[in-house]
Amino acid sequence: MPPHNYTRRQFVSTAVGLGVSLASSHMFGAPGQNHRAGRLQARPKQVEDRIRWTARPFPLQQVRLLDGPCKEAMEVNRKWLLSLPNERLLHTFRLNVGLASSAEPLGGWEKPDCELRGHFAGGHVLSACALGYAATGDDELKSKADALTVELAKCQEKHQNGYLSAFPLELFDRLREGRRVWAPFYTYHKIMAGLLDTYLYCGNEQALDMAEKMAAWVGHYFQSVSDEHTQRILQTEFGGMQEALCNLYAATGRKQHLGLSTRFEKRMFFDPLAEHRDELKGIHANTHIPQVIGAARRYDLTGEDRYRDIASYFWEEVTTERAYCTGGTSNVEYWRTDPGKLASELGKETEECCCAYNMLKLTRHLFGWTADPRAMDYYERTLFNHRLGTQDAQGLKSYFLPLGSGYWKYYNSAWDSFWCCTGSGAEEFAKFADTIYFHDDQGVYVNLFIASELNWPEKGFRLRQETNFPEQEGTSLIVHAERPAQLALRVRVPWWANRAGTVKVNGEALPAFSSPSSYLVLDRNWKEGDRVEISLPMNLHVEPLPDDPTLQAVMYGPLVLAGRLGGNGLTQPLVYPGYDTAPGGDPIPVPAVANNSQDPAGWLEPAPDQKLAFRAVGQSENISLVPLYKLTGERYAVYWKVAGKTV
Ligand SMILES: [Zn+2]
Repeated sequence: MPPHNYTRRQFVSTAVGLGVSLASSHMFGAPGQNHRAGRLQARPKQVEDRIRWTARPFPLQQVRLLDGPCKEAMEVNRKWLLSLPNERLLHTFRLNVGLASSAEPLGGWEKPDCELRGHFAGGHVLSACALGYAATGDDELKSKADALTVELAKCQEKHQNGYLSAFPLELFDRLREGRRVWAPFYTYHKIMAGLLDTYLYCGNEQALDMAEKMAAWVGHYFQSVSDEHTQRILQTEFGGMQEALCNLYAATGRKQHLGLSTRFEKRMFFDPLAEHRDELKGIHANTHIPQVIGAARRYDLTGEDRYRDIASYFWEEVTTERAYCTGGTSNVEYWRTDPGKLASELGKETEECCCAYNMLKLTRHLFGWTADPRAMDYYERTLFNHRLGTQDAQGLKSYFLPLGSGYWKYYNSAWDSFWCCTGSGAEEFAKFADTIYFHDDQGVYVNLFIASELNWPEKGFRLRQETNFPEQEGTSLIVHAERPAQLALRVRVPWWANRAGTVKVNGEALPAFSSPSSYLVLDRNWKEGDRVEISLPMNLHVEPLPDDPTLQAVMYGPLVLAGRLGGNGLTQPLVYPGYDTAPGGDPIPVPAVANNSQDPAGWLEPAPDQKLAFRAVGQSENISLVPLYKLTGERYAVYWKVAGKTV
């Protein structure tokens, strides 16, 4: 239930105390926890962001999802999280410090000999439970995070120097000495971030102390390491260490954390971005996107323009030159081509899911700085096409979202995968509510069409969004106001809304609308029961690849459509590959498309009596298409080879 008992005093004591920000602005502790607000005041002063936000998200606790595809997916994820026994999650942490554990070990990237062990079991799982608690108020999730924290603290205590990991220090020695090792700081970051989230969303003070101890160990590690040597260490993936240390600085006010965060600035990556040069070709995508989030977070906290430049240029370049129709980016985990060259990049391993997760995090900063509707256009595209459809009915997550025609979606196995994308997916599916609404002092931005209820206690204002979007081509907003409230409701008119939309207030059509990719501003004195109805008619349109206009994806409104190609030999190992992030198996041949119409989407028509279903006309084979996010358990095609009048 929404936190109606959240008084203004409590809001100020927690929200301002924690430094409201994009990265952590949805990270306030649970509303109504008076004991926590009191304890917070005893800490050193927290740091507020230095920059002036154009728009800020509401705390996650103030938005509740209502029935719809996002809530359904969140619920699947919640049950899956709760099905993971803490004893098994803690197993390798305990073994690492000589504590007894008889639990059955996890497999995959959590196997007792895997060099990434702990990334999920002591990291992502904490973040996901904490986010899930904030988004739903589910005490079981909070209890799980709190219980894990208590046991992880015992492991950290054994180390005596602040170090906390499921693998020994020897991996960090190898990193410092330039010997082969997977990604120790990447894993360390996940645990620090998990503890920070447990503090920020669950109000767990012990978790904050633990994160600070972990940071102290990092400071010690770098004590006798030169800058040049540091840059060599940063050649190995280190996740969001900079962001986590910035967030720790914001939460504690201790400057040493901000100072330490600069250790994690990889100059050969940042310098070209600061000079607006795309030198991304040949680098590993998800190693680097979190570094840009770190830059963005640093800009929030310090106002140093260099970091905003880095983040803004990177975001533009990736979203316009290196993203597919789904919003996803990367192929075989890398950017392998020059800007705008994607035709060679369609395969089984396009679009790592962590990349989409991290690009969405970055987009929240960009939008907060600018309120640019293009940022939310990108967010919607990626959320509906690349995130929603990458979890199966049991809560298992995808690693890649294949865009090579004739492939299929595959997911982590229950116990023998625990990939990076399992972890980022667990977080993603817990926080769908965090971007639907932003605000400034004058009003609310309605960014996404997701059934939900916003509570804004400072203004005595609640907004209920009722919609079956995307099955419904529009949305309704119902005002609940304790007293009349003068506010601007800014409703995003998406990029794809090029057929005239309409808006009604209390049943009366307004004469004006807004153009695609803008915000429709309704500024008035809102009263209890006021109702806004927005209609956003969708249409079929195509998205060719920039470097080969004969390769085209079809979209309906914001939705990428996938041609259904049937099960065609798919087996359990092909759909749940286990340790490996992609299964074996080959694509099946996919027919080319002939389009003899002047309309680029003229080879398609709506299927009778079915929502969001289409069929091909005038082709040699029958092809039916559905939204990519809805399709699972069969092969598909997104990009078609098209010949005809419009190519
Ligand atoms: Zn991943």
